[in-house]
Amino acid sequence: MQQPISGYHTDEEGHWVAQLACGHNQHVRHNPPWQERPWVITPEGRASMLGSQLECKKCDQSAPRDERP
Ligand SMILES: [Zn+2]
Repeated sequence: MQQPISGYHTDEEGHWVAQLACGHNQHVRHNPPWQERPWVITPEGRASMLGSQLECKKCDQSAPRDERP
C-alpha cells in the first residue's frame, strides 16, 4: 500500500527512518549500489520528500503501528 511520508527520525545506528502517515516506520537508507536514496542525506532532500509516497509492506501485512522516538 502506498503511504505518504509524514516525518523522519534516526535509529540507534544513525540510519534514517521515514515515518509514514499510516503509523508505520520504514528505513530509507542511502546504501549504494543497493539502495540509492541520496535525498535522505540532506535536510533539503528529506524535506522535499515529505508527502511523497512509499510502498508500505507493513500495511499489506496489517502490522501494528510502529513506536516512534
Ligand atoms: Zn503502513
